[in-house]
Amino acid sequence: MNINLMPSIFLGHGNPMNALLDNDYVKSWVAIGASIPRPKAILCVSAHWYLPATLVTAMPWPRTIHDFGGFPQELYEVEYPAPGDVNLANRIKILLAPISVGLDRTWGLDHGTWSVLCRLFPKADIPVVQLSIDERQPPAYHYEIGKKLVSLRDEGILIIGSGNIVHNLHAYAWGTRNVEPYDWAVRFERQVRKLLSAGKDSHLVEYEKLGDDAMLSVPTPDHYLPLLYIAALRRKDESVSFPVQGFDGGSISMLAAQVG
Ligand code: ZN
Repeated sequence: MNINLMPSIFLGHGNPMNALLDNDYVKSWVAIGASIPRPKAILCVSAHWYLPATLVTAMPWPRTIHDFGGFPQELYEVEYPAPGDVNLANRIKILLAPISVGLDRTWGLDHGTWSVLCRLFPKADIPVVQLSIDERQPPAYHYEIGKKLVSLRDEGILIIGSGNIVHNLHAYAWGTRNVEPYDWAVRFERQVRKLLSAGKDSHLVEYEKLGDDAMLSVPTPDHYLPLLYIAALRRKDESVSFPVQGFDGGSISMLAAQVG
């Protein structure tokens, strides 16, 4: 076992207000940041960079993007001034060949990235690169990209997938405290946990075949797909842990899954 092997983590980011709130999810994110080796750089696959291309951010100073509406002014004032890493962006482009990867100089860090990183690494002094999710591609494509990135773990790169395993905003109880999660949400999350623990990645990739619970939990793929990148990064016999648990608003799973 390589003691320098960096873990890879799927984080359920949920409500962007988690960047400011004090709750158990946030406390757990802080604890994760303190428990893992300091990464040389971070690669984040965020649900909120979902477009018809595979792009990697390649600017020295990515901006903080406030990609949401209707939140308190305080949230729009949050900045996460981490540097970028152009060399890492170029390395990712090479690793993913023959897939065509565009070097992006216009995006930056969206809230899928900064709302969690501001808790894991509040100093914002570790370079961060984002990789987009190509919305035209099937789930297996995203899993294969994860496989191609596995060597980065040996180089001290922390790969984060930021989404939510269950993400149904139609059923979400905005502004209501302590609502019970829906049965279908609990069942689907439990199923995904079991499949992850058992290394049954092909079932995770073919999640659309998991029935009505999957349809309700994953009405659109964007928040689920980052999980496939992290599942793919797991090495044989490596354990999976779940350092954050719980449901927000009844229909958003905040589950985190850590590989290594
Ligand atoms: Zn989101």
